[in-house]
Amino acid sequence: MIQEFLIANDSEDALKLRRNNPKSVFYAGGTEINRLNSTVMAKTAISLSKLHLNNITDEGNSIRIGSMVTFQQLVESPLVPQYLKDAALYCGSFPRRNMATLGGNLALCGDHSYLAPVLLASRARLLTANLTEGGAYSEDNIPIREYHAYHSQFSGTLLLGVSLSKDQRFVGSSRFANTLESQAGVTVGFGATKNNEGVIDHVRVYVAVKGSGVQRLSDVENAIENGELTSRQDVQLAVGHAIEAKDDFTGSSSYKRYIASEGIAQLFAEFVAGGAK
Ligand SMILES: Cc1cc2nc3c(=O)[nH]c(=O)nc-3n(C[C@H](O)[C@H](O)[C@H](O)COP(=O)(O)OP(=O)(O)OC[C@H]3O[C@@H](n4cnc5c(N)ncnc54)[C@H](O)[C@@H]3O)c2cc1C
Repeated sequence: MIQEFLIANDSEDALKLRRNNPKSVFYAGGTEINRLNSTVMAKTAISLSKLHLNNITDEGNSIRIGSMVTFQQLVESPLVPQYLKDAALYCGSFPRRNMATLGGNLALCGDHSYLAPVLLASRARLLTANLTEGGAYSEDNIPIREYHAYHSQFSGTLLLGVSLSKDQRFVGSSRFANTLESQAGVTVGFGATKNNEGVIDHVRVYVAVKGSGVQRLSDVENAIENGELTSRQDVQLAVGHAIEAKDDFTGSSSYKRYIASEGIAQLFAEFVAGGAK
């Protein structure tokens, strides 16, 4: 439970406060930190509200979205691609969309994450800030797949924002839950590009499975790129075999495997039919 609330003046200050307060967390929208039975345990909250990370800017070939941008800002901005608006709307509660931030959602990267599968499928880049062991402030720009693959190693990292390329690319996601407000059993993200010769490249297949985490299906990605999986049925079968799933209140493991494979196969079929989104 939060007992102390500190307000950082800038990114470096936030990182220093975090380092000097071992049981502390960055505080963005607070929707997970304050949730009943929250997964986040901390005594000290370090507010990021003064860091000016709540803007969405057009940077020419890319769009930069600050980590403190809320889900509702994503929905309302004309700069944000539809695939990300769709994922932000998976959060059905307007008050929560008004508080929950993109950075908070990515930092959690949970097994029922609204945004992680689609952002991973988009090949976004993350803008991060850290302190070196000696205490020097540094910023970096990393592929989101790296953040996901080594997630625990980024626990002290401050997310500054996300950079989305404007290059033509199909990106889509689907979420499967009993109701809009229920936790999802499965959320899938699929992204790929097709060049003028019809060659499929840069395929990304990510599946968030309740109880089993956010999974990258690299073998499926490679098989699509190599032309080994060409039909919707091929992809469905391959995804069903590749994912890990457990029985729980959101569904049986076989249901989750079925629904994830159906979700990815649908997106693959849309991609093949249209090629870009
Ligand atoms: C009723 C309810 C249902 C929910 N259902 C879902 C759901 O289905 N799917 C889902 O994904 N989430 C769900 N959530 C959790 C939450 O609303 C979202 O994940 C939200 O996006 C978290 O963002 P936040 O800004 O509120 O994060 P916070 O609660 O402020 O922080 C969450 C974590 O992220 C860290 N963090 C925040 N910002 C940064 C940053 N810039 N850099 C590094 N670390 C940071 C914090 O330190 C903390 O550990 C639910 C919450 C509630 C209350």
